[in-house]
Amino acid sequence: MSIQRTLSIIKPDAVARNLIGSINSRFEQAGLRIIAMKRIQLTKEQAKKFYDVHKERAFFDSLCDYMSSGPVVIQVLAGDNAVLKNREIMGATNPANAEIGTIRRDFGESIEHNAVHGSDSPESAEMEIRFFFSETDIID
Ligand code: GDP
Repeated sequence: MSIQRTLSIIKPDAVARNLIGSINSRFEQAGLRIIAMKRIQLTKEQAKKFYDVHKERAFFDSLCDYMSSGPVVIQVLAGDNAVLKNREIMGATNPANAEIGTIRRDFGESIEHNAVHGSDSPESAEMEIRFFFSETDIID
C-alpha cells in the first residue's frame, strides 16, 4: 500500500445542510487524514476551469452554476490508497446507485447535488490539489 493524497470538495448542498462534520468523520473513521482544508466560494469562472474536462457535457453549465452557488470546503486527504479509498467512501456519482453507508447515498440529494467531489486518479489528484493549494498550505 502507498500513502497518497487526494482532493476532496464538500459541495454547496452539503455545506448548506451543515454536514461538514458528519462528512469529515466518515473520512477519519476510514483512516484518511485531513491535511489541508479551507472554506471558500468558487466563482463561476473557477468552477468552469476546475471542471474543464466536462465542458462538452450537457450538464456543464448547470454543474458550474451549482458549484459556485454557495460555500464549499476544499480538502486534501492523505492515507493508504487515498484516491481509491475516498472514491469508495463517497460512493457512485448518482446517490440512487451508491452503496448503503456511502456519503453520497446517505447525504446526496441528486446526481448533481451529490455532496462531495473526490479525485478519480493519482494524476488528477495532483492537478486538483495544485489548483487550490500551494505546498505550504499542506501540513502533513
Ligand atoms: P464524479 O467523479 O463521481 O464526481 O462524476 P463525474 O466526474 O462524471 O461528474 C462530475 C460531477 O458532475 C458529478 O459529481 C455531479 O455533480 C455532476 N454530474 C455528473 N453526471 C451528471 C448528470 O448526468 N447530470 C447532472 N446534472 N450532473 C451530473
